[in-house]
Amino acid sequence: MARSMETAERLASTLVSGLREAGFRLTPQRTAVCDALARREDHPTAQALFLELKPKFTSLSLTTVYQTLDTLVRTGTITSLGSAGDDSIHFEVNTDPHINLACLTCHRIRDLESRAVSALEREVQDAVGSKVLSGRVVYYSECLETANPRECPFFPKTRDKRGDHA
Ligand SMILES: [Zn+2]
Ligand SMILES: [Zn+2]
Repeated sequence: MARSMETAERLASTLVSGLREAGFRLTPQRTAVCDALARREDHPTAQALFLELKPKFTSLSLTTVYQTLDTLVRTGTITSLGSAGDDSIHFEVNTDPHINLACLTCHRIRDLESRAVSALEREVQDAVGSKVLSGRVVYYSECLETANPRECPFFPKTRDKRGDHA
């Protein structure tokens, strides 16, 4: 899943500004991390971004990807969503209140707009004021990236075969 070109470009420029304000020199690699993060809707991990960009940026290191993401989190430009059932940290670009729907099989996450989450955020804000830093709502679901959950590329093919394990 990818965002519309217009939204991705707007987000990418916000991310690049975040790095610039943190005093980072904008190398093509760091800009590419911002672009990929802005384009992807699946809340990628550092590893997923690295695998996407490595063929084009052969000098890119996983450390650069981590540093870029860490800086964006530190400046509040993106947030760290945490694990999606895979013990890996996924990153969040969408700052609007929403529900995150994570596929328990491929760990891709999709956003779902929610008035209830907006109300929830207001409730927490009213209760503790400026002490609120960030929050996230995550639900686990069958794969939403495919029409049939069984078409999820990581769906365990052996699940239906009498107790076989992959
Ligand atoms: Zn999200
Ligand atoms: Zn899936």
